[in-house]
Amino acid sequence: MGFGRPAGAFRTLLGQLILLTQIVLIAQAHPYGNHPTFPVGVEENLHPVVARASEAQFTALPSSGRIRVHTSCLRHFDLNQWDSTINQLKGVANYGKVATQMTLDMINDNMKNDNPTLHPQQRRMIDLFMVLYGSFRWDDVAAKMRVRDRAVRVNRMAALFANGLIQNTANWNFFCDESEWVLDPNVPPEIPTKFWWIKDLPAGPRMPKLSDSLCTIPDDYKAGYGGVQAEAVTLTAEHIQGNPNWITFCDGVWEVFQFQTHIWHLPDKKAEALRNAYFLADMINNTPERLLAHEFTHGKGQFGEYLGRDEVYGWVEIVELAKKDNAQTDATQSKPVINADTFTYWINGVFLEMCNFRSGRCEDPDQAAQTPQNSDSS
Ligand SMILES: [Zn+2]
Repeated sequence: MGFGRPAGAFRTLLGQLILLTQIVLIAQAHPYGNHPTFPVGVEENLHPVVARASEAQFTALPSSGRIRVHTSCLRHFDLNQWDSTINQLKGVANYGKVATQMTLDMINDNMKNDNPTLHPQQRRMIDLFMVLYGSFRWDDVAAKMRVRDRAVRVNRMAALFANGLIQNTANWNFFCDESEWVLDPNVPPEIPTKFWWIKDLPAGPRMPKLSDSLCTIPDDYKAGYGGVQAEAVTLTAEHIQGNPNWITFCDGVWEVFQFQTHIWHLPDKKAEALRNAYFLADMINNTPERLLAHEFTHGKGQFGEYLGRDEVYGWVEIVELAKKDNAQTDATQSKPVINADTFTYWINGVFLEMCNFRSGRCEDPDQAAQTPQNSDSS
């Protein structure tokens, strides 16, 4: 369609996004403070997960029957609070799916256009995408195609994320006490690494023991933070329909559940974010949506070959990763595409439609569109 997407069609899409926002907008403000960030860990699954006989310690969420919380989680929040947390995540995920498709369309529609005229909402999407996944000049077709190929993969990830939640096809078990994981006495002594298993369950994901406790990040962990306590750890299942993945929430994580991403859509919060030019990192820091979008991508049972891994954590590092990796021509090897934290910054950042985050701070999209910057202006 060249620049080509008719304005009317774009307005319709924009209307859909606004509607999505309103659906998840619940007038319930939570106090916001600055808290230290904890990195998020993952350990790779080395052994197939088998079906487990004991179901008694898990309760399915009322609106998301394939997400089940262990009794240890009900000490922190009741079932309805867990349910509403996942419903909020569905709002962010669904918005992210639509917005990622729009971003991909925007690149495809302008493949032959070296100077597209973009709506401020389109611009804030492509600006954030470029910062996180790699930038290009619109007159550089080769660079544009490289980023387009990454957008194809991110679009698939966004769809897997949203569809798994909304169509209720993704199986997740939540633990909220790492002591539920104990050493497996059945591992033969000739195997040098010790293995984790789930206490009281006849079978579970058996994992090499890489650190003193499940929630302690291994010393040699690639993404850093070795020896530090994680917010949560995900154990992945094989990509077989029906197989669950496990998230274990660690001690100290509970403050991130104090806030919700969607409250930035409230008029006074929106104004506050713009007035103070808040950092995206701070706006999403203490939110379960940020944490869960990160953790879910580690679930091979949901994401399959689009599984997210930990390359680096945090805004500064992921922006640097995108710059360093920008010459990559194979989207399947793109480190930003693979990196779990990049995905959660994208999904949660694009949800905040009141901000253009090209600088990492919240700028008014209409004003940002008047002063294009970075590579896309040249
Ligand atoms: Zn991770």
